[in-house]
Amino acid sequence: MSEMKKVLGVYGPGSNHWVGDGFPVRNLFPSNGLRDEINPFLMLDYAGPQYFQPASQSHGVGEHPHRGFETVTIAYQGAVEHRDSAGNSGVIYPGDVQWMTAASGVVHEEMHEKEFAKTGGIFEMVQLWVNLPRAVKMSQPRYQGISKEQIPSVDLGHGSYARIIAGELEGTKGPALIFTPVDLFDLRLKAGTKAALHLPEWHNSGVVLLKGDVVLNDVDSIKGEARIATLGQEGTLVSLEAKEDSILLVLSGEPIHEPVFSYGPFVMNTRDEIMQAVQDYHDGKMGHLPQQNHSL
Ligand code: MN
Repeated sequence: MSEMKKVLGVYGPGSNHWVGDGFPVRNLFPSNGLRDEINPFLMLDYAGPQYFQPASQSHGVGEHPHRGFETVTIAYQGAVEHRDSAGNSGVIYPGDVQWMTAASGVVHEEMHEKEFAKTGGIFEMVQLWVNLPRAVKMSQPRYQGISKEQIPSVDLGHGSYARIIAGELEGTKGPALIFTPVDLFDLRLKAGTKAALHLPEWHNSGVVLLKGDVVLNDVDSIKGEARIATLGQEGTLVSLEAKEDSILLVLSGEPIHEPVFSYGPFVMNTRDEIMQAVQDYHDGKMGHLPQQNHSL
């Protein structure tokens, strides 16, 4: 008999703000105080859903650096175009995922894709930051553009399913190459579905509700939009019962037992390493992007 993971708490966004002029986000953590309970995950921004008018200039966030962790972007509606100083580029469309390992340092920009920007429409994305252990924080950057077709699904009955982006569910493995052991599932539940998910014991886990109404473990309810329930490390099961059609992300990861020093786009282990990151960025050691005109 598998033990249920205990629901530790349910949280809404701790802040609403814009990232650049393209990402109107609700931040689910750490702005609401969630840190240790969700380690190795560092941050989750839920952008939109928001309608953008047809534009003559692409919205987004221009050149900026990252070091020491990974950024994972999941597209729901609209499209994002990425370019980075490691020479990688790509567009992610609805259903696609971009898994960028900044590691020793990357400078990139994240813009609304040109056709989307020109036409306008509803924009909806999630960006999740995953910490890296000390041993790989200064390794080579890596870019994985994962298309919708590469992401396998596990059938949950009633027309409901889980897309396995990273990690494993019931023997189905996600395509993302990972440094930190994590599971990341995109769940689409139809009203009336009851499903139980096995998650690793001693991982920190969260169930993020983008929209809907779901009862966890028969007692704890998450309802509305932009909420996260955190789960205890003990036990291996969480049960989900959808009261309405619901969209969720399930995150689970092995905690990294190391100090976290973060400063904006840099997440390292010590204060000195943060000062070094700032210096290296200013010295151009993370590279730069070739100029590009964002007029449409
Ligand atoms: Mn970024």
